[in-house]
Amino acid sequence: MKLPAFEYACPATLAEAVALLAAGGGDAKVLAGGQSLVPMMAFRVASPALLVDLRKLADLRRIEITDAGVRLGAMTRWRDIEDDARLDAAHPLLKAAVAEVAHYQIRNRGTVGGSIAHADPAAEMPGIAVTCDAEIAVVGRAGPRVIDAGDFFIAPLTTALAADEIIVEIRLPAWPAARRWAFKEFSRRRGDFAMAGTALFYDVDGGGRAHNAHVGAIGVGDRPQRLAAAEAAINGAAVDMVTSERAGAAASAAVTPQNDIHASAAYRKALLGTLVERALQSACA
Ligand SMILES: Cc1cc2nc3c(=O)[nH]c(=O)nc-3n(C[C@H](O)[C@H](O)[C@H](O)COP(=O)(O)OP(=O)(O)OC[C@H]3O[C@@H](n4cnc5c(N)ncnc54)[C@H](O)[C@@H]3O)c2cc1C
Repeated sequence: MKLPAFEYACPATLAEAVALLAAGGGDAKVLAGGQSLVPMMAFRVASPALLVDLRKLADLRRIEITDAGVRLGAMTRWRDIEDDARLDAAHPLLKAAVAEVAHYQIRNRGTVGGSIAHADPAAEMPGIAVTCDAEIAVVGRAGPRVIDAGDFFIAPLTTALAADEIIVEIRLPAWPAARRWAFKEFSRRRGDFAMAGTALFYDVDGGGRAHNAHVGAIGVGDRPQRLAAAEAAINGAAVDMVTSERAGAAASAAVTPQNDIHASAAYRKALLGTLVERALQSACA
């Protein structure tokens, strides 16, 4: 289908982009990779009057790794993450999750900022952001601010971003080398959005007990979420078959997915439990 008519701007500076968005009121939208917005326009789910293309803002396409963690510029593409060998050690969970995003062609254009702003409840990057306590740095007419990922996602396709705000960076805290982790999801076909998925990690103390467990879930609610009950089942335990089974059961009990055309709520609940159990088995191995 053809897109609805729209005005197009391609600013050279972030300040100009913010000014264009602010002037457009709610009728202007940022264009990043176009991999979600353009299909939505084709289906008339979105009809912005003005697209503000960020492609000239080269500073937004960067991956910085320091002792404090990983900073992903909003225009960083999935492919940039896949191709960056430093991330194998600096954030293996992020790399594993991005490998599951869509198909090669989409990973070649799609961006982390676009995915965070789009806020699909089954998308991998919002799940990683919530699981890892990421911070989302944004700038708008009122200046810059930083939003905790846990406060950013409100509902499907709805976030804490104001209409004139642009995501500039996603900040992931430092990743200890000995951390145990896994990412598991299930979809009908390779590259489809997950029917359910989990990102998890924990650290291990000198006595072999887990602490600092973070268990995140995607595809089983109206936004990505942390599962406190599953984390409680892991913290203080030696992660083995019994702990994995307990945490899987706790994860399954903690979520309330909806029935939809892809799966029943009961199936998604059971699937998440199995994925958490398998992820823990893989993490402790
Ligand atoms: C067939 C298909 C399968 C897919 N499968 C998956 C999948 O399995 N997992 C997955 O995670 N994604 C999947 N996607 C989506 C894909 O990952 C997109 O790349 C991703 O949603 C981000 O889109 P984008 O960067 O192209 O942003 P765009 O499409 O350009 O923008 C998306 C939204 O974010 C806003 N936006 C973009 N950048 C910013 C910014 N910096 N600040 C503020 N707002 C911004 C836009 O205004 C728009 O509302 C799939 C897409 C397709 C077409």
